[in-house]
Amino acid sequence: MSEDVRTNATQEGEEKSLNFIEKIIEDDLANGRVPNNTIVTRFPPEPNGYLHVGHIKSICLNFGLAQKYGGICHLRLDDTNPAKEDMEYIDSIKSDIRWLGFDWGEHEYYASDYYDQLHEIAINLIKQGLAYVDGQTPEQVKENRGTLTTPGKNSPDRDRSIEENLRLFKEMGEGKYPEGTYLLRAKLDMASPNINMRDPALYRIKFAEHPRTGNKWCVYPMYDFTHPISDAIEGITHSICTLEFEDHRPAYDWACSIDGIDHTPHQYEFARLNINYFVMSKRKLLNLVQLGIVSGWDDPRMPTISGIRRRGYSPESMKDFVSRVGVAKVESVVDYSLMEFCVREDLNKRAKRVMAVLDPIKLVIDNYPEDKVEYFEIENNPEDPTAGTRKMAFCKELYIEREDFMEVPPKGYHRLYIGNEIRLKTAYYVKATSCEKDENGNVTVVHCTYDPESRGGETPDGRKVKGTSHWVSARHAIDGEVRLYDKLFATEYPGGETGNYLDDLNPDSLIVLQNAKLEPWLADAKPGEYLQFMRSGYFTPDYDSTPSHPVFNRTVTLKDSWAKQKAKMGL
Ligand code: ATP
Ligand code: MG
Repeated sequence: MSEDVRTNATQEGEEKSLNFIEKIIEDDLANGRVPNNTIVTRFPPEPNGYLHVGHIKSICLNFGLAQKYGGICHLRLDDTNPAKEDMEYIDSIKSDIRWLGFDWGEHEYYASDYYDQLHEIAINLIKQGLAYVDGQTPEQVKENRGTLTTPGKNSPDRDRSIEENLRLFKEMGEGKYPEGTYLLRAKLDMASPNINMRDPALYRIKFAEHPRTGNKWCVYPMYDFTHPISDAIEGITHSICTLEFEDHRPAYDWACSIDGIDHTPHQYEFARLNINYFVMSKRKLLNLVQLGIVSGWDDPRMPTISGIRRRGYSPESMKDFVSRVGVAKVESVVDYSLMEFCVREDLNKRAKRVMAVLDPIKLVIDNYPEDKVEYFEIENNPEDPTAGTRKMAFCKELYIEREDFMEVPPKGYHRLYIGNEIRLKTAYYVKATSCEKDENGNVTVVHCTYDPESRGGETPDGRKVKGTSHWVSARHAIDGEVRLYDKLFATEYPGGETGNYLDDLNPDSLIVLQNAKLEPWLADAKPGEYLQFMRSGYFTPDYDSTPSHPVFNRTVTLKDSWAKQKAKMGL
């Protein structure tokens, strides 16, 4: 881990203490501050994109707290900006949360469910002289808001009469005015040290079809007005959000104190999850999709939940990851390798071991009978005795990895070279005798002899070999496409140098191998199956996979001692 990457990850087996939100909840429960003694949390995504890995932290926190304390977690789609929202996003959000193993039951809500109520609350505020229609231009509104160091200036419309405000707000809603002409604002304090309290906007004009309310409205409530009131209506007890909302808390508390709102939720902020090498803003992710840099929101290189699922990450590994990262109030950047570590740890337990030759060359066993087929019993997962075994066909012609044979081996190379003997995994010892090459000098076929007495990988004389290769029978193997994924960005902080994250794309983030040779049953493997291609990494079938053209995504490499060794040998 580099020095500027901090993580408050816990080590495995370490006793976990309560995080600060758990402490607050336990204290609230113990002191009778929770209505019905039932905590109610919510996960409130805005359906303007797919969920990303950062959201997993928020999902696990909100749903996890409800589970831990016997409470309820609502799913609330915060659909207040119809211009950017879409049904496709709503569907993807729901399926991503389910994939993580969480269920909101009947508690599926939409901010748009409350539009009528919010509208009524706004009218009441006007009637009480607590809100006004502002006709300043957007530039003037911005100008007069002031800065962190200078107070704002009152709008000339601040003292408009209640009747006038009611009429204008009604006409705004009737579509009489173009976007940007009027805003409904709360009359708070333009001199407040907190900019969010300087007469926050409550409603704006927006002519956009809403995914759920269609064209019913052309005025839409603002986030800072909608969110707290939605929380209050739903009886949320602990409203948990990321740190950037800390400055909005006074506005949140103000909205919850409006006359007629009789439940007061409390907002608590925690540090968002940041991971180096990732960008995790929906705006940037949408851009990658729209520019065609990735194949879609679920491209396996995307840090979206659909992307990592397609890539073969398991939900358990991601839950483990966010739990190791923990919940804190200090911003930090978590190392990508911690996430990959969690993925390997989990897949090691559940992945079926498979022989797949990604870059094949033929191995011909000259002293093996022409038509003979033998079957070797292979353990599906040595880490899991219940995973069973399967049979693998073996015959005279096999495929092995190109990198497992060298004509001129460097010092320290223990794989196949002429005169050297290695073990074919669970099968026989073979010794290379010669090789054939194509016109470009690339090896195409390696000839060898086998020792019939070494069946199962040991010899009566007890001699040892250093190298072991995986293999597939040439007669039985099927062809497959293998997609080797690497990080989408080549630098730890994409855009850190130039300000444009697109400058830091990794040109080698996808390498497609068309010619892999696979065990025949892999034609029927389905997305969601976790596989380990022995010595190559963890893989999973892609959605594009069909029995006649199986396609596999590399989820993550194995802990790569070979890469290190290769680097040492200067290969
Ligand atoms: P982004 O800034 O990435 O576009 P967002 O905050 O706009 O995300 P929302 O849909 O509003 O996305 O987020 C839903 C919930 O998830 C919010 O409560 C938000 O605080 C939380 N969340 C978003 N990003 C992260 C993150 N990186 N880590 C933890 N929680 C997050
Ligand atoms: Mg947001």
